[in-house]
Amino acid sequence: MADTYSLTCLKCNVALELGGLFSTDENGVHVEELESTGMKENSTKAIHKYDEFVARALCKFLLLHRNHELRCISTTGEDYFIGTDGFIADLEAEDLVKTLVSAESFDPESEHCELESEIRDRKALGLYTSRPQV
Ligand SMILES: [Zn+2]
Repeated sequence: MADTYSLTCLKCNVALELGGLFSTDENGVHVEELESTGMKENSTKAIHKYDEFVARALCKFLLLHRNHELRCISTTGEDYFIGTDGFIADLEAEDLVKTLVSAESFDPESEHCELESEIRDRKALGLYTSRPQV
């Protein structure tokens, strides 16, 4: 069984396709470890798995969407969010790799305040519960 998964930012409504995930081989036999078909580089048609291209695309996505609500969801799962929260645009991995993440926009203090406010709002709406203390 296979399905395509994306790393999705629910705040910005954008997704980075991670590739298809499959749990069986070509003969239908279950594999021990969940595998990915890899990330596609559209201009060269290359498929990347566990290489520098994938690392750069993921890092850029995470840097651009720091403090945002991220989910790794199937393409089918995206439909639930499309229906409730608008269109989710697919990002090209190679565009992300080339994207300059400006250091000028980096303001941890402001991000902390924004996060604190968001958590306070969610708690007030009953949408967020604190993690149990360990
Ligand atoms: Zn975002």
